[in-house]
Amino acid sequence: MLKVGITGGIGSGKSTVARMFTLLGVPVYNADDAAKSLMNTDPGIKAALVAEFGPQTYTAAGLNRVFLAETVFGNAAALTMLNSIVHPAVVAHAVQWMAQQQGPYALKEAALMFESGSQADLDVVIGVYAPESLRIARAMNRDGASRETVVSRLSKQLDESIKMKLCDLVIANTDRELVIPQVLYIHQLLLQKADAAKSPAAG
Ligand code: ATP
Repeated sequence: MLKVGITGGIGSGKSTVARMFTLLGVPVYNADDAAKSLMNTDPGIKAALVAEFGPQTYTAAGLNRVFLAETVFGNAAALTMLNSIVHPAVVAHAVQWMAQQQGPYALKEAALMFESGSQADLDVVIGVYAPESLRIARAMNRDGASRETVVSRLSKQLDESIKMKLCDLVIANTDRELVIPQVLYIHQLLLQKADAAKSPAAG
């Protein structure tokens, strides 16, 4: 089975595009959702977070997101520490998930694909591209967030033009291109690639 990644910056529309692949029957792993879930369920992550940030990290109801967000906000060292605890666990969890999937190919959606090094476990990476102004507008609209908040989150990600150069295939999710035909084209391409990988002697 072909292992495919899908990435893009804040507001690029990677979740929206990933949902289109779901509609085509492709299994999709969402690294953000997995990180949120693992922070509440993985004993190793929980112990490491408590050791690093203190017992307030969890309440009886689970992860204390407000406390954790306030702790790492504007504190680069704390954010790096949080990522170094959570990212490797998500990368390992995604590898396990991939190994359990059936079908020609499965998708892993992650904002921080190259930043976390998880492209190393994938055969193909798709980039979802949109210009920065549109990404900011989309994220502000979706989250009800200020421009400053979105720009600050965006500035912590790898530069979009570098990210897209590292991708094998790019989907333009701008307000000028039709997205569904690009998704259908890539779906066919990946089916062919998966088929060729199954029987390399045939071609
Ligand atoms: P993040 O990394 O911040 O989670 P994302 O890349 O997953 O973002 P989405 O959540 O898919 O992005 O999209 C951001 C917002 O833009 C959503 O509200 C979504 O509905 C909207 N959006 C995405 N693509 C399009 C499009 N082609 N046309 C109109 N709206 C779009």
